[in-house]
Amino acid sequence: MDVSPGSLAKQISIERRFNCVVCLCARFQMVYGQCQHRICTKCAYGSSGVLRQQFQRCPSCQQEDSFPERKPTIPEDNITLQKLLGVTACQNKGCTQEFWSWEKSEHDLTCPYKNSPRRGKRPSDARKNQRYVII
Ligand SMILES: [Zn+2]
Ligand SMILES: [Zn+2]
Ligand SMILES: [Zn+2]
Repeated sequence: MDVSPGSLAKQISIERRFNCVVCLCARFQMVYGQCQHRICTKCAYGSSGVLRQQFQRCPSCQQEDSFPERKPTIPEDNITLQKLLGVTACQNKGCTQEFWSWEKSEHDLTCPYKNSPRRGKRPSDARKNQRYVII
């Protein structure tokens, strides 16, 4: 496994730049505001597809009307870009979690939808600690 500081720093900078600023998660469907901040459609829009009240202003910079009032169709290209960056989805049936590919092994251990709960494989604690030491 590649745990060199360089690659970890790169992962952290990608997470900072491309995570949803609200839920701090990697998502396929991101809405770009006029201010260039991005939030995921799950945070921005309710089930009716209308922008939630609290996002009439950008949560990052407070710009008004930055995000479209109604949930836009996210272009396939944007989703492909997220995939290229490293966003991936849980493969377990029923699970809708999306995360960075380097977080997958961690999620697999805790996923509530995993089919066969297997013990014995522990998350890489060393790697996790290292990530936070570097910040
Ligand atoms: Zn979000
Ligand atoms: Zn903003
Ligand atoms: Zn899962």
